[in-house]
Amino acid sequence: MTISNQSPQLIDRFGRRVDYLRVSITDRCDFRCVYCMSEKMIFLPRDQVLSLEELYTITKAFAELGVKKIRITGGEPLVRRGALELLENIGKIESLNELVLTTNGSQLEHMAVPLKNAGVKRINISLDTLDVDKFKAITRTGDLRQVLRGIGAANAAGFERIKLNAVILKDKNHQEVVDLVQFAVDKGIDISFIEEMPLGMVSQHDRSASYYSSDCIKADLATQFSLLASTEKTGGPSVYYKVQGTNTRVGFISPHSANFCSTCNRVRLTVEGRLLLCLGNEHSVDLKQIIRANPGDMDILKQTIVAAMLIKPEKHEFNIHEQAVILRHMSVTGG
Ligand code: SAM
Ligand code: SF4
Repeated sequence: MTISNQSPQLIDRFGRRVDYLRVSITDRCDFRCVYCMSEKMIFLPRDQVLSLEELYTITKAFAELGVKKIRITGGEPLVRRGALELLENIGKIESLNELVLTTNGSQLEHMAVPLKNAGVKRINISLDTLDVDKFKAITRTGDLRQVLRGIGAANAAGFERIKLNAVILKDKNHQEVVDLVQFAVDKGIDISFIEEMPLGMVSQHDRSASYYSSDCIKADLATQFSLLASTEKTGGPSVYYKVQGTNTRVGFISPHSANFCSTCNRVRLTVEGRLLLCLGNEHSVDLKQIIRANPGDMDILKQTIVAAMLIKPEKHEFNIHEQAVILRHMSVTGG
């Protein structure tokens, strides 16, 4: 691909078109979910983290290279000061079709309306359990009631779509999959179940023992719901089903039991400015170094991004039975 091309596209060695960028805007969070973080985390010093201006410049470069969808995530993106302003600025990039957000919901009660006004189209909200005590046990610091109020506020704000994300852990919350789907049905929103991935060292949590496959979840759900296979393709890892007689879709993200790499359309920008070509590999390019060494030079930035496509790996190398094959946490990476 050349940058002078009229309608630029990012294409990798395997012919996959990259049109989706996920951006972690902070590694910090007000929760400490057991599968995501250790109880005591050391966060990055400020100068190692991209500034809001640098984040905007990089997202703009991607949009100019044909990326149509940007997801802002973290860490908890809404605890970063200035997050709303950044979202407003990215929301004004005309060539983007979709600005979306992943959040733990803790700040949504007061931020749902400003986010909608900033141009955020869709929101994913993490919700692993409907039980106050289990919620505290899984998130270590979170308050379920606050998150439920946030989900209510997001529903009232009128986003195009709201989706819950639930990481299902054997013997912690696997008994709740039916209740979680019923909750989504009652609210008229979607839900995705995520198999845990071995990202980062976590304390007091055995990933191998808590593995609960998407097939097990499907079998549990089949006792209460009819799930109709959907032909909808998102280009991503989710396989969707419609809950018969409702507007709710149930997605399954199954990195262990179903490999989704052949249609991968996405790359990630870590909070340190590393362009990560695959969630399950370490292939990356340091964009922070490029923009700090060449301030204001969009061409060099874009050339570096185009060249990076050549090292996008063919597939991920996850193995739930090995601890921390990938040392970085999901919060740094932009899950
Ligand atoms: N803090 C926000 C949240 O929780 O939604 C956004 C960042 S969080 C890293 C994004 C998603 O990644 C959440 O749905 C979370 O449950 C999921 N996640 C975190 N660590 C994971 C892991 N090791 N395996 C699978 N999913 C994980
Ligand atoms: Fe925070 Fe989200 Fe990670 Fe939980 S999953 S610790 S809410 S970043």
